Parts: sequence; C-alpha cells; structure tokens
Amino acid sequence: MRGKLVYPYSDALLQYEFKKDHPLKPDRLNLTYHLSKYLGLLDKVKEIEPTLASRQELELFHSPEYIDAVEDSGTNNNTHPQYGLGTSDNPIFPLIHDTGARYVGATLDAMRAIMDGASNAFCISGGLHHAHKNVASGFCIYNDVAIAINMLHQKKKCRVLYFDFDAHHGDGVQNAFYRSKDIMTISVHQTGKTLFPGTGFIYETGAAEGVGYSVNVPLLPGAGTPELIRVFDEVVVPLFESFKPDLLVTQMGVDGHYMDPLAHLTYTSYGYETIIRKLRDMSSDICKLGWLAVGGGGYHPVNVARLWTLFLAVMLDEEVPNEMPTEFKEACIQLGYQEIPELMRDEDEVVQLYSSREDVALDLERAIRRVNELVFPYHGL
Ligand SMILES: [Zn+2]
Repeated sequence: MRGKLVYPYSDALLQYEFKKDHPLKPDRLNLTYHLSKYLGLLDKVKEIEPTLASRQELELFHSPEYIDAVEDSGTNNNTHPQYGLGTSDNPIFPLIHDTGARYVGATLDAMRAIMDGASNAFCISGGLHHAHKNVASGFCIYNDVAIAINMLHQKKKCRVLYFDFDAHHGDGVQNAFYRSKDIMTISVHQTGKTLFPGTGFIYETGAAEGVGYSVNVPLLPGAGTPELIRVFDEVVVPLFESFKPDLLVTQMGVDGHYMDPLAHLTYTSYGYETIIRKLRDMSSDICKLGWLAVGGGGYHPVNVARLWTLFLAVMLDEEVPNEMPTEFKEACIQLGYQEIPELMRDEDEVVQLYSSREDVALDLERAIRRVNELVFPYHGL
C-alpha cells in the first residue's frame, strides 16, 4: 500500500506577491486550501510544511549569476531587466528570492515524498513553467518543475512524462528538457500567435536525441472542453501508453477556463474533471513512482479554488457535493470578492454554450494530423 497523497501548504507561501494589483494573487492558494478544508478533503491527505530550497537545489536548473541577480533584487531593490527582473510582468519585491525558493521547496518536498513512496502529491503553489535558466518570465522566478525533475534524475535515472494544460505554453520546462528523451513534455495551450509566451508550435519537437519528445498542440482562441478532451484522447493517451513513464508530472494551470480573465480558451469543469480522472487511472496503471501534480496559472481566485479543489477530489477519488459551502462563500466575501459561483461545477448549459466551433475544430484536426506525422513515428505509433 502506497502512502497518502502529499499536500504541501503553509501561509508562508502567501508572501509570493509581486504587487497588490498584480494578477498572480496569493488568494488563489489561500482560497483553494480553505475550500478543500471545508469539504473535508484535507482529512484524506498528508499535509506538509514547505521548506526553503537551498542554493544548491536552485542551481540544479538556474545559473549562479541569475540567482545572484534575484537575491540582489530582493536585498538591494535593484532591477535586472536582462534577467527579466523588474519588468511589468515580474516586478521586484523584498521577498522575491525567499518566496521563490519556498515555492521551489514545496515542489521538491512533494517530489521527495513521492521518491520515498507516496503515491501522489498535489502542490498547488508549484507550476512556474515560464522561468528559464537565466531569465524570470511570466510571473515565474524559479522553475520548480525543472528543478524537481533534475533532482529526481540526479538520484534515479527514469522516464518522466510532463503534461501541461495551462492556457499558456510550458516553455521553460520544454526548454529545460528539449534535448532529453528521458523527459517527454506535452503542452496543450492557446496558440502562441495570440498569447504569451509566443511559442509552443507543432514543429518544436525537441533536439538531438530528444527529437520526438517535445510535443505541442496549439489551439485557436475559443477552443474549449471538446478540444481538450480530443487532444487528450488522440495525443496524450497514445504517447502516455507508448512512453510508459515512471512518473507523471502535470502542470494544472486553470487559466484556460472560460471565466479566466487572461486567456481566451473556454474549458469547463466537466472537461477538466474528465481528463484528470483519466490521468489518475493511467498514472496508477502505468507509473511506478506515481503522480506529481502542480498548480500553475489561473487569475480568477475564487474559480481557481473551485477547480483545484475539484481536481484534488478526483485525485483522491472522493465525491464532493455540488453546493458551494457557506463558510467558503463568506470567506470570499470577506476578502472582497463578488459573484461567487453557487455550485462547485459548471452547469450543463455553460458546457453546452462552449461546445465546439467549426473553425476551431477544423484547426485542431489539422494540428493533430501534423503531430501524428512529426512525433508519433518516434514512438512506433
Ligand atoms: Zn498560464
């Protein structure tokens, strides 16, 4: 019998805040934690207090010069635009290094627990997929996922499947493993033609011995649940089954949800729950080490809490009532949020409203055909 699902969380994580009016709000984590607690889900997990990642751990992916620049920004209030520090996306703040290192620590703690026998973990603060070796980008200072996978690899040579369904391309993680055939990255996202970071095209398939191990499925704005499920069934499932990863890592940004203010996709809770259920079953059948899930984007804090709590319930195979708990609604109102959804799941009418558009569906059909031509032959498919 494997150990309980591991859930790193502490209020110290809430100090990762660029500015009061920045879209990446700590309430995303705070509200998720409390909603999951009100619904009794946290009784089923093993909560752990995130540690700070050490300098040595950060250097598993980032350059010493870059870490020096982050530390200098925090301590001396200096901007370093050449390292992406002090831009409008990534303003500097006094705790920029410490809180960045705590976010990494949380994901590393989750990874260590899995290496020690936990079957799965959900680290809601993780998923800073845009951070590069030498550059902060897209609200991401340190790339917790790249560091955690490198830590695992240092101890154990194994295959990892990284699947990213955030609305934005998972560029930092893709680049980190672009030349590796031990780590397969699959990202489904709104096309880089219309959304940050402007990458994630089908022809980005990897380099050197990693060709065929970077997989991208860009979607047109407006794409939603039917497209998400189709990409999952026609791209993720066959690659998952042929690659047979030892560990599944998922970046579960929810900025592709129709209510999200920053992207233009129209996923619904139904679509998310469908693919997460399948990920749970496939990882339990295939992945010897288990499943490390991390958070990611999502800029409507109340909605993020609702979705990540649903994800946790699916991971635990627990039912949750559809009514939003009153304590949660009150907590949201106290924090100044209005228009709080009455239900945990999107209603059927909403799911219908965002059903497939013809141009979007045709574009996806072309995209899947191209992925089949460029990537599948490397996997005997
Ligand atoms: Zn995103």
